[in-house]
Amino acid sequence: MDEHSRPIVIQKYGGSSVATIEKLEAIADRVVRRQKDGYGVVVVVSAMGNKTDELLRLARQITPEPPARELDMLLSTGERTTMALLSIAIQKRGAQSISFTGSQSGIITTDSHSHARIISVRPYRIQDELERNKIVIVAGFQGTSYKNEITTLGRGGSDMTAIALAGALSAESCEIYSDVDGVYTADPKVVLDAQKLDELSSAEMIEMAQHGAKVLHDEAVLYAHRHQIALYAKKSHAEKSSGTLIRPDGWPDYALKAAQIHPTAIVTAKKTMFVRMNDTNTADFLDILEHCDGARVMDMVASNGGIDALLDIWNCPDEDALKARIDPAHAGCIRCDVRNVTAVGLDIGRCTDIIRKMNQAVSELGVGVIALFTQPNAVTFVVTLDDVAAVSNVLHAFITQ
Ligand code: ASP
Ligand code: MG
Repeated sequence: MDEHSRPIVIQKYGGSSVATIEKLEAIADRVVRRQKDGYGVVVVVSAMGNKTDELLRLARQITPEPPARELDMLLSTGERTTMALLSIAIQKRGAQSISFTGSQSGIITTDSHSHARIISVRPYRIQDELERNKIVIVAGFQGTSYKNEITTLGRGGSDMTAIALAGALSAESCEIYSDVDGVYTADPKVVLDAQKLDELSSAEMIEMAQHGAKVLHDEAVLYAHRHQIALYAKKSHAEKSSGTLIRPDGWPDYALKAAQIHPTAIVTAKKTMFVRMNDTNTADFLDILEHCDGARVMDMVASNGGIDALLDIWNCPDEDALKARIDPAHAGCIRCDVRNVTAVGLDIGRCTDIIRKMNQAVSELGVGVIALFTQPNAVTFVVTLDDVAAVSNVLHAFITQ
């Protein structure tokens, strides 16, 4: 990239933002305006509305477990439909654009169908077209394996496409548009006085995503953090949305903030499983998980007595298969009726004073805490589903203190 080139911005639009032709046309207006403001614009799109689910349903009408390769061929068409329609809408406005599949965009992945990982990005065609002043539209959520097969990146994977391209193209920023106007201090349906955050650090966003916040794809946030990419979460069809900026660095530093350590947000995952295993070593436990697609460790502690772990099973297609893999002789407890209520904030897990205060507030509610996990930037209370709202509200009060 020479110094006379325009700065590059990546915009990613999620399924609900591109659900209808009207919405796509509105996005075309916005994209064209952005180019006129002097930017090289790359737009990453998701499948329209619930298209991905619809395609999955079609395949499953034929067989409950469709072959993974064919499923990737099928699902990748959702995003391709959107990219072509958006490019048509942009060209109707007199601007120049071109749509690319993941493979044409140079997104090279591992060969694991349905949850491939990006291993390199070779965006030469995108760079050429940007040089020709074209707006480039990229189908998200997909790439091509080194074996030349079409792969998909896991549900919600278009964020990953956008961020990987932001890194490879040295973009000035990466804007993720959806139907929410940013990152909130808590789920507004659970905590009524939840507020939109104007900004937060990527370290905090990583913990939020790791503990179940679905605004942004967790691996995508991690990638942005590692590659120092500024991320914006914004609402797509609101002109004046400032959104939330996810700052790429760890500022403000510990010394400056030490006097005022408190949570920034409270988050709960959608589907979790709590497992207590007696007389089990870590290697055996991780082995079980490795054979269960989509089960991810959210928090875990291993000791001589065994293992306590909270798993995120949102992406786990078959939780019964996971349960069946756990040897009943060692299972002290397996529960899916529990959730994490996680307070996220820089250094809160290192500060015993704030942990003590939050723990006291929770016990004053009379709630039984099944487990408590701490990480440097997160403190997690594991409670039953019935207690999630009360605990979230009581912890949320610490944000403003
Ligand atoms: N369309 C895919 C999904 O629904 C990918 C994405 O939206 O990011 O999971
Ligand atoms: Mg989607």
